[in-house]
Amino acid sequence: MVSKSLFDNTETAFALKSDSELERAYFLFKMIANEPLVRIGTAATKLALNMHLPVEGLIRSTVFDHFCGGVNEKDCMSTVDSLEEAGVSSVLDYSVEGKEEEKQFDATMEKIIDLTRFAKNKSAMPFSVFKPTGLGRFKIWQKVTEGATLSEAEQGEWERIKQRYHHVCKVAQECNIALLIDAEESWMQGAADGLCEEMMEIYNKETPIVFNTLQCYRWDRFEYLKELHKRAKAKGYLLGFKVVRGAYMEKEHDRAEDKGYPTPICASKSATDENFNTVTDYILTHLSDISLFLGTHNEVSSYLAMETMETESLSKSDGRIWFGQLYGMSDHISFNLAKEGYNVAKYIPFGPVKDVMPYLIRRAEENTSVAGQTSRELTLLKREKERRKL
Ligand SMILES: Cc1cc2nc3c(=O)[nH]c(=O)nc-3n(C[C@H](O)[C@H](O)[C@H](O)COP(=O)(O)OP(=O)(O)OC[C@H]3O[C@@H](n4cnc5c(N)ncnc54)[C@H](O)[C@@H]3O)c2cc1C
Repeated sequence: MVSKSLFDNTETAFALKSDSELERAYFLFKMIANEPLVRIGTAATKLALNMHLPVEGLIRSTVFDHFCGGVNEKDCMSTVDSLEEAGVSSVLDYSVEGKEEEKQFDATMEKIIDLTRFAKNKSAMPFSVFKPTGLGRFKIWQKVTEGATLSEAEQGEWERIKQRYHHVCKVAQECNIALLIDAEESWMQGAADGLCEEMMEIYNKETPIVFNTLQCYRWDRFEYLKELHKRAKAKGYLLGFKVVRGAYMEKEHDRAEDKGYPTPICASKSATDENFNTVTDYILTHLSDISLFLGTHNEVSSYLAMETMETESLSKSDGRIWFGQLYGMSDHISFNLAKEGYNVAKYIPFGPVKDVMPYLIRRAEENTSVAGQTSRELTLLKREKERRKL
């Protein structure tokens, strides 16, 4: 029987945090619970960074150090090691976003390749990860998604994106490291899905090396999964999916309204939840063809997945199933799952402070706007502080 109080154990959840780290986390979540403060703080930080004001130190000692492993991969190693001691694996995520130049895309590709080669000899790092827009310009992804005609120069850019994908996937296959490819805005995601399918067809013949991401706030994703499952079966390759709810909801609504097309987002939070749980269940009952990385901070969805695993008589440590949370969030899920013997990995973002700002802003906004999220983090931190006092 899956115990519904598993995630209540704050001692396990925060075992890696010193008293002062616990205080800092509490203070931080209290600040980002305040919506006006986040709005003003976000705008002021963007402005200050653009004006080259010396605010990096302040960002580092607050949000950055809480949500990121450091400015480079070396910084992250002590975190990787201490997570490993608690039975939690790491996914080092080079979180530099919004770049537009070819040499930056090449540099990102090299970074992913280096990390993948490093991970080969580090059992606590079973995955590599990247974002489609880390390897090519957003506009190119968008144009290919829209079926627009590319100029000669753009065609060259698209070919180079494909080459980068092949390069990264080939190294991942050689190192036997699974590769998680993030999902982004729907108006560029069609091309990313198409290219990822091409990669899966080539590199997932024997084992699921390449994982795409399904954003379940999109109502079309379950159909997409079932269609792709049919195609993959017919062509004889395996699928891997990271399943998430999705991080760009407001942007998606705004654009749909602006351009006058129906929003791709489910009609309500509960519809997203249902879609997420249906997709998860589908994968958990088709594991011979599809592997799962369940990226969520939602307790109910995590319990439901554990229950399905039990009903299907699956081992907690089945290598085809991973639970994943972001570093700095939902430690009560990660560490308690790991203690029970499930496969768990934390995404650890890293990169120069200025370049990871879009990621940090998404985390601050998410913790402000998601009903219940911050109050839950705060409640847990408070409970652990009180437990330690006793
Ligand atoms: C390991 C990991 C990897 C991730 N990778 C990606 C990625 O590649 N791409 C990506 O987009 N996101 C990614 N995310 C973020 C993720 O999509 C969610 O934003 C975040 O995890 C919050 O969702 P939740 O499942 O934890 O649950 P909850 O906190 O229960 O759900 C919040 C989510 O529900 C949805 N939602 C909220 N209100 C409504 C509404 N009114 N109508 C419809 N839906 C609603 C939104 O998606 C919102 O983010 C990742 C998260 C994790 C943990």
